[in-house]
Amino acid sequence: MVIPKGTIKEWPPIDDIDKRYVLASLEGTNHAFGPNCVSFEREFAEWNGNRYAITTNSGTAALHMCIAGCGLGVGDEIIVPAYSWSSSATCVLHHNCIPVFVDIDYDTMNIDVEKIEEKITEKTRAIIVVHLHGLSADMDRVLSIARKYNLKVIEDACQSHGAKYKGKKVGTIGDCAAFSFNQNKCLCSGEGGMFVTDNEQIYEEARKLWSFGEIRTPVEKRDYHAYALGWMYRNNDLTASFGRAQLTKLDDYLKVQRENAEILKEEIRDVNGLISPFEPEGYTHTWYNFTSRISPDDLGYRWDVPKLRDGIMKALQSEGVPVGIWQSFILPAMTVFQAKNAYGRGCPWKCQFARDLVYSPDDYPCAQKHCDTHFGMTTPLRAPNDKKVAKLVGIAFHKVFDNIDQIKENL
Ligand SMILES: *Cc1c(COP(=O)(O)O)cnc(C)c1O
Repeated sequence: MVIPKGTIKEWPPIDDIDKRYVLASLEGTNHAFGPNCVSFEREFAEWNGNRYAITTNSGTAALHMCIAGCGLGVGDEIIVPAYSWSSSATCVLHHNCIPVFVDIDYDTMNIDVEKIEEKITEKTRAIIVVHLHGLSADMDRVLSIARKYNLKVIEDACQSHGAKYKGKKVGTIGDCAAFSFNQNKCLCSGEGGMFVTDNEQIYEEARKLWSFGEIRTPVEKRDYHAYALGWMYRNNDLTASFGRAQLTKLDDYLKVQRENAEILKEEIRDVNGLISPFEPEGYTHTWYNFTSRISPDDLGYRWDVPKLRDGIMKALQSEGVPVGIWQSFILPAMTVFQAKNAYGRGCPWKCQFARDLVYSPDDYPCAQKHCDTHFGMTTPLRAPNDKKVAKLVGIAFHKVFDNIDQIKENL
């Protein structure tokens, strides 16, 4: 076993700063949307470079707020990449809009900007880009398409805190954006999220959805009035205190992650049959998830590709490398889209304002190929793990791919 148990430290590292912030919250008196929430919004907005921020109980809530904030509604069609976390697309359904999927680009794993225009109809109102695994989407192309067709651009930045596109931080490029603070993300507060925008009108609209359709925030005088259809998406003080503590360390975490990823990339450069993730010119990857793919051709194997991938993954795991499949389904193949079992009675697709459409998984060959050939990895490259761990991961990759014939025989 190349990496003995206990070598890789768990995420996230917790120190006295976290304990101090969380204890201070406990000693306060407002445990709902309290002072830590207000500070977290201000500090995150400042860190990311946004005018407005609203903290939520999840990234998914923040995504739904993006849809509402942009004034999207019944029957509006929204472009979404065919490969992502489910809620990048179900947030569209939440607001009675219709997701229209676009295949991904195999190299970047992000939306294939060359395939967006062919999916645009007179009902298209917005594009959701997902900055997957820590790499920004091609924002210049997305923005120019959006300008041409008068579309809103929503950034799902749930995996990409600190990622940059041509020097700009994600979450500052489109009309509004969502971040997640779930356990696995680069900024972890257990669960939680942040809606951000620079646009006052989008901010006001999103805020209505956030807290019961009220307009005043609970830190001010409550008026208990629903001005609009609202959900309950507020964050709470304890969670926000944890998020604030982690935010003080986020830049250092991201620096460690980049250093470790660069070492690993160098270590595995010449591993035959392994495609490691790349960073195009002008982009700053955070390496949130170091996602590799296998090349069945280079490995001399053309049969059951997912099975070979699973065999390689198992071998890596038995060398102590925590790799895993991030998604085994592309989004349009998921039951909610195949069975269209959202609001019942076929809605929202059958709604009189919507266009019914067919989700045919065969239309997304790159996303499917990615599903079948990838495996992801997060913790070994994250703080407090260091160069030594990154090097060990490299050694394990070499060992497994050097013994590929043995893996193929045992499939
Ligand atoms: C995690 C994630 C979400 C959802 O965030 P939650 O906080 O879990 O609701 C949305 N989109 C992407 C790409 C994610 O990785």
